[in-house]
Amino acid sequence: MAETSQRNNETTIQRDIGDVVSGFFRNRILFPGMIRFLIVCGLLLLPSLTSFCLQDSTVHSNIVPRFPDATQVSVVPLIFLPREVSISDDEFQSARRLLDVHVAMAREHYESLLNTTFLSSKTHTKPFQSDRFHSDFVNAPQGGDDDRAHRIVKELLRWMHEDRYSSKHIYLIIYVRPMDERFKSWEEFLGGARPFNGAPNTGGGYVEMEYPSLIRDRPYPFQSTLVHELGHAFGLAHANCKGYDQGTNMSIMSYNPLHYSRGFTKSQTPAGFNPEEYFALSLNKRVFPDFSYDESIHNPAGKTLDLVLIQQCFLSPMGAGIGDFRHFEGVGYELFFNGRRVSGPEAALYSLAQAGRNCAWNRVNNASFKIECRYNGQLIE
Ligand SMILES: [Zn+2]
Repeated sequence: MAETSQRNNETTIQRDIGDVVSGFFRNRILFPGMIRFLIVCGLLLLPSLTSFCLQDSTVHSNIVPRFPDATQVSVVPLIFLPREVSISDDEFQSARRLLDVHVAMAREHYESLLNTTFLSSKTHTKPFQSDRFHSDFVNAPQGGDDDRAHRIVKELLRWMHEDRYSSKHIYLIIYVRPMDERFKSWEEFLGGARPFNGAPNTGGGYVEMEYPSLIRDRPYPFQSTLVHELGHAFGLAHANCKGYDQGTNMSIMSYNPLHYSRGFTKSQTPAGFNPEEYFALSLNKRVFPDFSYDESIHNPAGKTLDLVLIQQCFLSPMGAGIGDFRHFEGVGYELFFNGRRVSGPEAALYSLAQAGRNCAWNRVNNASFKIECRYNGQLIE
């Protein structure tokens, strides 16, 4: 039952992971022909990036966008109330205490695996009261730029006086339903998480969980789900994206029920990370500035990591529904024709592999121009 519930509550995330691929094809910069080409011709890989066995991870660290503002982001827990919902002060204070303990436990879990952990803030002293009714969230269109997640994040960015790029936070949202729905409809409960801008190292993000999980561990166990959802917000896809069995893998990013917590009691077999996930987290300097991937510690079996696959498993950015995309000079991917930049603002959020594919296509199909491609300001040959 618990597994079923957790799976049901993962539908948002499963969609997000699907977007890893579809989101790439959906990217709207450049030329319509590019989209058809990529679908028909598959992947044009950069030969030097197809796989690697790391000797020096710094060689391979420049595969995610690097924004000029590298301020560390922190996880900020908050109670989210739709417009018609209220909770008593006692309930709120009790939820705050639970949340603060759970976040501290999650920080310890990451510390035990990485020897460093993420920053967190105390839960807000007041709940966030939305302008929208509960029905606006549960009946929001699924997918697209105006789905429930976009509606929630848009409100919170405004409330926190930040935007998708300037955000220094990962919002850990505990959503509270109206009283008559609060402990019913288990199958419909919501959950999900992702970075605002997709790839690791692109700043803020959000995690959405529900109030009954916090106070009753239903419909999903809060602590073990929290570390999993935070993994998404830090830029990790599910374990099966990297080829592992989602039901039995030992990673935080699996659904393995052996990892389930109960209240403040952790599993006897707590989850860890796969080598690809350690590597992806090492790219996210906005969250883990002090964490470096070490082959001997994080990949003791010496598995050859597929760097292109790792990049294919980056999550896609949220849509313009949380704020317009902007170009940043020298950040992410930039494409120039005869010295003039022609890439659109979403290209700032490309991975290096995405940039390489797009660049290669343009060298073939727009050969009449002098093509120049840059990633984080460096020329792509
Ligand atoms: Zn998930």
